[in-house]
Amino acid sequence: MEKRRFTEFGLSPESLKAIDKMGFEEASPIQSAALPPALAGRDVVGQSSTGSGKTAAFALPAIERVDPHQRSVQVLVLCPTRELAVQVAEEFGKLSQFKRGVHCVPIYGGQSYERQFRALAAGVQIVIGTPGRVMDHMERGTLKLDALRMAVLDEADRMLDMGFRDDIERILSQAPEARQTLFFSATMPKLIQQLIRDYAKDPEWVKIEPHAQHAPKVDQVYFEVERRSKLEVLTRLIDLNDFRYGIVFCSTKIMVDELAEHLHVRGYSVDRLHGDISQAQRTRVMEKFRDRRFEFLIATDVAARGLDIDDLEVVFNFDLPNDAEDYTHRIGRTGRAGRSGRAFTFVSGRELYKLQSMVRFAKLKIRRENVPSLDQVEEARVNVFFEKLRSVLESGNYERQDRLVDRLLEQGYASTDIVSALIAMRNQDDRSAAPEPARPSPAAEAKPPRAEHRPADAGDAPRDRETAPRREKYARPARTGREPGMVTLFMNVGRKQLVTPADIVGKVAGVTRLPAETIGAIDIHQRHLLVDVAEESAPLIMEKLRGVRVKGVPLEVSLARETALPDDE
Ligand code: ADP
Ligand code: MG
Repeated sequence: MEKRRFTEFGLSPESLKAIDKMGFEEASPIQSAALPPALAGRDVVGQSSTGSGKTAAFALPAIERVDPHQRSVQVLVLCPTRELAVQVAEEFGKLSQFKRGVHCVPIYGGQSYERQFRALAAGVQIVIGTPGRVMDHMERGTLKLDALRMAVLDEADRMLDMGFRDDIERILSQAPEARQTLFFSATMPKLIQQLIRDYAKDPEWVKIEPHAQHAPKVDQVYFEVERRSKLEVLTRLIDLNDFRYGIVFCSTKIMVDELAEHLHVRGYSVDRLHGDISQAQRTRVMEKFRDRRFEFLIATDVAARGLDIDDLEVVFNFDLPNDAEDYTHRIGRTGRAGRSGRAFTFVSGRELYKLQSMVRFAKLKIRRENVPSLDQVEEARVNVFFEKLRSVLESGNYERQDRLVDRLLEQGYASTDIVSALIAMRNQDDRSAAPEPARPSPAAEAKPPRAEHRPADAGDAPRDRETAPRREKYARPARTGREPGMVTLFMNVGRKQLVTPADIVGKVAGVTRLPAETIGAIDIHQRHLLVDVAEESAPLIMEKLRGVRVKGVPLEVSLARETALPDDE
């Protein structure tokens, strides 16, 4: 579908002025296709992916349709969630800003009835609401649809998913026959088609193929990754690209819990959403995410449905979605109008065939890339450090240490050596001290990172951290991979117990009489630590150290399997 100029549709000068003020330069494909029939008064069924501009495609005809002199509800827009109702109402507000006498109001559950009564009684013409609350008002007699000229079902697929079918049918069957009906949705499952047959009159079907919209906007890449390496690859990609705002999709609740916990332990600022989390909690998480109070949302498809955020830097498909539609839905949350987004998909084993069939079916433009190596990640890390250092130098905002530096120079050290040594020390520190997670929750800290023997309920892991720290990129503990022949052990003590690497080396050497070379890198976290040890010595170390007290705590030692990071691929 071609994109057209807004001036081609015969819109009112007030609408054109608003569009111009909003900065829209041309109509998006769905707008180009849906505006003409909708403005002509026809019923329209519009299908296009998230972020493609469906709101304006129905809002503009709705606004043109309203008679400002008539103070009764003339347009009803049904939306699946409160967030969407508010967002759509905002778009209506902006698009109608130059139309005198046209008023709109969002009504949704959770807001006081009082407020909504007042708005309705004042004679608004456009009501944007969730089906449940709209039904409530109709039953109370505070919302009358006698004068309704247009009904819009936005995100019809989600509304049906959320069980609003009965409410929708009741609402539509009480609206005047002579109204115009518009359906907009990213997907058109059978149930919607049924609804359309029952409630639309000879509709014009408008469908914008996903690939046409996404190809230029979202850079799509997939990686063939072994299941157990996904976590490592994920963190590498985040570090390498310095991503700070994204969603990671998993296929199950358990995966969501596990992954959120693993990432949290590694110092990433994350939270999670899935079907077992209460609605109130979900709303809180979504608000926090919208305010960017944490960086990565780990979610299942269903839980992310109500989330109206589409300006993500990146979407990760940690697990492959079920079909091409879900895939398109997921990646549509990045690469919002004009800006380019990134989508990374992991496939392991036979998932590759599934991906290939999705590619064929939906004509996805996705390319394969190799997993980034640790060297690449390290280089990116160094670059970030370098930039930071340079900006400190440029700002001049640091305490001078001339005496100290002079002393070293006098002793014959070159300035380049001194700086290099400082950077090496800094890296050393980074490796043994993870950034302090804010108010870590017990569930996330006290259990081993490997979820094998964990019950399915993951506790409140990262959910409750209100003030996620801004991550300092170069200060993240760099688990720069084990040497060959080493494995990683988990121990249940950490910085909380003021454990130092020396304590661990001393304990292991003392109890097992093994040489110090047996022990490699040690990553100390708040309440646990990860220590690399020679593979052949691991069973002995586990056996001898179990129950031994370190800082008063009886040790638990186990193989940290999921954290057993693969060496460079
Ligand atoms: P959808 O409902 O299809 O998911 P939205 O209507 O929410 O998409 O639009 C996504 C974003 O694109 C919004 O920020 C909206 O203001 C913007 N947008 C819509 N139409 C245009 C346009 N023609 N040009 C530029 N931006 C647009
Ligand atoms: Mg929308």
